[in-house]
Amino acid sequence: MPTFTLDNYITTSDEDKKENYRKAILLAKEMDRKFTDEDVLASDFLPNGALYYLHIYKGNFDYMISMRNNLNKYHALYLGQVRGILNVLRAELARNEKEQNAEGFPQILDLFEKAKEQGLKRPRIRFLIEGNRRAVIYAAISTGKNPGCFYVKVSSDYAGMVHADGGADWRLNQNEPVKVALRALDNDPIKVLAQYGHETGECGICGKTLTDPISVSRGIGPVCLGRVGRN
Ligand SMILES: [Zn+2]
Repeated sequence: MPTFTLDNYITTSDEDKKENYRKAILLAKEMDRKFTDEDVLASDFLPNGALYYLHIYKGNFDYMISMRNNLNKYHALYLGQVRGILNVLRAELARNEKEQNAEGFPQILDLFEKAKEQGLKRPRIRFLIEGNRRAVIYAAISTGKNPGCFYVKVSSDYAGMVHADGGADWRLNQNEPVKVALRALDNDPIKVLAQYGHETGECGICGKTLTDPISVSRGIGPVCLGRVGRN
């Protein structure tokens, strides 16, 4: 049975180990099936990528801990063990992606798409965060460098962005009040827009003062209600 010894791994530079690991991640994300022994044998980066992953692994999965013990003891792993490590990596990546998507803001993105279809070039949504501070999110223009993403401002200060895949950037990730407000907006956009209208007397989409009694009671203007997909 083929084995992978530590020798080759140890004599590889740290840069190359990381590069092997990076390539293993890209391949794992691309594949719609588990790694096989043949994949490992045919690749010049998967074995080292697997060992690097084992080296930096911080989790408490028994399999990974026993693989690390084996490697320390025998200075080598069997082909099937390397394949197993790669499939742990693959499962971890799939889990992360799922969590990230679950943490995204699909309704907000959907709302912006609808508003664009209705002819708004750069739709905005105004809302209030903790302490009744005014916040606004606005969609990036489709032809710009970040199509599909949206930006956040609080009291006119830039507060970060949400990428097209739904993930928040580092700036936004540190801003708990904004994240809480975005979560509420995503859960029920019309409700949050109505709250904004009731608090400020303005339409949360176009910013105009709400005048007619129906709009005042709804908390959003009739045209904008249509723009976000409801009549
Ligand atoms: Zn409006």
